[in-house]
Amino acid sequence: MNSPVRAFRSVGGTPPFMRRGEGPWIFDEDGRRYLDLVLSWGPLILGHCPAPVKAALAAQLERGWSFGAPTEGEVRLAELIRRRMPSLEKLRLTSSGTEAAMSAIRLARAATGRSRILKFAGGYHGHADSLLVEAGSGVATLGIPGTPGITEGTASDTLVVPFNALDAVETAFERWPEAVAAVIVEPVAGNMGVVPPEPGFLKGLREITVRDGALLVFDEVITGFRVSPGGAQERYGVTPDLTCLGKVIGGGLPIGAYGGRRDVMELVAPAGPVYQAGTLSGNPLAVGAGLATLEQLDVFSYERLERSSQRLGAAIRREAEACGAPLQVNRVGSMLTAFFNPEAVRDYAGARRSDAAAYARWFHRLLERGVSMPPSQFEAAFLSTAHDEESLASFETALAGSFKA
Ligand SMILES: *Cc1c(COP(=O)(O)O)cnc(C)c1O
Repeated sequence: MNSPVRAFRSVGGTPPFMRRGEGPWIFDEDGRRYLDLVLSWGPLILGHCPAPVKAALAAQLERGWSFGAPTEGEVRLAELIRRRMPSLEKLRLTSSGTEAAMSAIRLARAATGRSRILKFAGGYHGHADSLLVEAGSGVATLGIPGTPGITEGTASDTLVVPFNALDAVETAFERWPEAVAAVIVEPVAGNMGVVPPEPGFLKGLREITVRDGALLVFDEVITGFRVSPGGAQERYGVTPDLTCLGKVIGGGLPIGAYGGRRDVMELVAPAGPVYQAGTLSGNPLAVGAGLATLEQLDVFSYERLERSSQRLGAAIRREAEACGAPLQVNRVGSMLTAFFNPEAVRDYAGARRSDAAAYARWFHRLLERGVSMPPSQFEAAFLSTAHDEESLASFETALAGSFKA
């Protein structure tokens, strides 16, 4: 098992091994077909094997797939990203979202000369040491390592406060003035299940960080080019100093990116002293898949994603109501989570109060009926532009009675 959530630990059972995908469908080694609402955890916004991405990959395969030298595609991808997300005045491609977030933090520390970072409980920014810290809820406290192997020194530089709690952020900045290099946030939380930012939350983070001289880092690895043509920063009208990207910008191949303010990005080597590198950074196959994916995404794609996702969310809500199951459907664009919870979920503590065992039962019932949902209450389900009438109708059929005890 090469990544933990795939192991089905939180829902039980044995994960099917997948063999191939086609549009909104995936097929396991036993030939069973599933409607895919995981989509490789977000990247496959066009579904499986879309023709333009296949063609881009085939063309690149003919030319070679790694040169360790600059290629035109990297520049084209960077320019396309900058056009849609103008806050990325300069950007750097990496091979994963983890690398992007880790490098953005290093850069923020170098740019501010400060060592602390502030993150939100339940926020995931890849598995770099300083970002894995996840202290309990409440006002900012010195973190304790949540994962063996992370030193106390590293953990204590990471402050953790609840998502959507501006007052807790204020308190942390009062306690540690001019000490925080960066606030890093998923502008729409996706890794505690989907939790939207409350009105004013992101703007508040912008104001507090400007006042204190800390940088604001949006981790848009999921939301980038998923929740709107310009990501969450466009959707909510808040401009961060730095942005992390991944997932969709590689169309299902390994990629990441970080970028933002020119003056800050110019600190990155070779222009500046902050070292960061990668043998396969800007890999031509990943770049080709990413470019082909982004080029397919126009305003109509986002309208289609919104419609499909709205329909899916409404169907889940309707069915839960019919069965009397207490359920919250949190949805932003084409990312959504059904929380088995009688109360609104606005942060990690709220998400944790959900009935994960009930989610697991629902998950297996749907899997048996040919629907692949994320194998955890705390992950987002995703839609793609390939989710068409037939597949959405099949979801509604599978949903019938799925909440019965
Ligand atoms: C997936 C994810 C990452 C990590 O990206 P990898 O490519 O898995 O390293 C970082 N941040 C967020 C918000 C993510 O969802």
